[in-house]
Amino acid sequence: MKILVANLGSTSFKYRLFSFSGEAETLLAKGGYERVEDFGAVISDALKNLIDGGHLESMDDLAGVGFKTVLGKDLSGCVLADERTLAALDGFAQIAPAHNPAYAAGIRQFQRLTRAPCVALFETSFYQWMPESAKHYGVPRAWREAGIRRYGFHGASHKFIAERSAELLGRDDVAGRVRQLYVRGPGEEPAQPLRVISCHLGGSSSVAGMRSGVAMGCSFGLSPQSGLPHNNRVGDLDSMAIAVAMKELGISFDEALRQLSKEGGLLGLSGCSNDIRDVVAAMEAGNADAAVAIDVFVHSIRQWIGSFFFEMGGAEALVFTAGIGENQALVRERVCAGLAPLGIELDTGRNAGFRAAEGDLATPASRTRILVIPTNEELVVARETRRLLLSRSS
Ligand code: AMP
Repeated sequence: MKILVANLGSTSFKYRLFSFSGEAETLLAKGGYERVEDFGAVISDALKNLIDGGHLESMDDLAGVGFKTVLGKDLSGCVLADERTLAALDGFAQIAPAHNPAYAAGIRQFQRLTRAPCVALFETSFYQWMPESAKHYGVPRAWREAGIRRYGFHGASHKFIAERSAELLGRDDVAGRVRQLYVRGPGEEPAQPLRVISCHLGGSSSVAGMRSGVAMGCSFGLSPQSGLPHNNRVGDLDSMAIAVAMKELGISFDEALRQLSKEGGLLGLSGCSNDIRDVVAAMEAGNADAAVAIDVFVHSIRQWIGSFFFEMGGAEALVFTAGIGENQALVRERVCAGLAPLGIELDTGRNAGFRAAEGDLATPASRTRILVIPTNEELVVARETRRLLLSRSS
C-alpha cells in the first residue's frame, strides 16, 4: 500500500512516498519545491517524477494522500479530506493564514489529479482528549463559542514521541494504545500510568504533557503563534501588547501581526538570527541580546515542563526532539540544570557530544529518563492515513 504525504506551505510543496507491507514501513522517495506559484503544476510534476522514477506504476498505484493540516473549525482527528474538511480549513484560515489556504488549495489539486482518497490529519487531533482545564482561556462565553480556546499543535510529532518513547521504555501496552488512538479513542488507561513530557524544539517549538500516550496539554494554544518563542514567531503574549505597540509605534493592526509572525521569537529577542546555531555562536562571542534570547527560550521550556511535571505528579521520561532538541546540547543542558532534586539528572558528558540519534542521556540514578528521539511527522501522517483507509475498507 503506497501513501503519499503532502506538506504544503504558502509557497512550498514537499512530499514523501511511503510503502506499507505487513509490518514493514519504507520511505520510497521524497522531494520538494520552493517558491511555488502554480501548485497544480508542481503536484503534477511530482507525480510524474514518481512514476518515471519507478516508485509508482501509475496514478492508480497510490492508495491515498495524507495531509498534515493545522486546524479546522469544529473539526479535528484523522478524516477524509472532503468538502466538510475544506470548509473547516476555510473557517479557521485566519488562525493559520500561512497553512490553511495552502492545504485547502493542495487538497483540491490532488482531488483533481488523482483518484486516491485524500486524508487530513489535523495537528490538533492529539489534543482531543485533553482535560477541559487545559482547553480554555478565561474569555467571555461568546468568545469560547466563537472557537477561541487552546487547541495545541505539533500533534503528529508528539504522537510519534508518545509511541516511540513507550516502546523504548518497554511499555508496549501504551505504545499499542497510542497506535490505535485515532481509530478507537483512548479507551481505558493502563493500570500503571506512563507520564512523558515531550519537548519539540525546532523552527516552531512546543512542549506537551502525555499520560499513558494521551495528551494532557500543550504549550501551543489558539494559534501556531502561541506558546514558546519560535524561530521568528512570538509565542505567548499578553493580550494588551498589540494595542500598546500600535499606539507607541504608530503601526497598523496588520503590521503588528506581521511583525509578530516574522520578526519575533529568537530573531526578535537576539536581533541577529532566527537560527539557534547563530544565536548560540553570537552568545559565545559575547552578544548580550543573544544570551537573553537563549535564557528566555530555556525559561519558557522549563516553565512548561514544570507545569506538566507538577500536573502529572512527576514524569517517567522527558523527551527532546526536532532540530534543536535533537542537536543542541547546550539547550538540553540548560533545560535540565538544577533538576536533580526532582529526580531529573542529565549525564552532561554524554549529552555534550550527542546529536541526531536516539538515546537516553539520563544518569543511572535519574528517576526520570531523558531521551532524545528524532521525530518523524510524515510517517505519522502516512500511518494514520493508512489506518483510516483500512478501517473504511474493513
Ligand atoms: P526543525 O524545525 O525541526 O527543522 O528545526 C530547525 C531548527 O533546528 C533550526 O532553526 C536550528 O536552529 C536547529 N538546528 C537544526 N540542526 C541543528 C544542528 N545540527 N545543531 C544545532 N541546531 C540545529
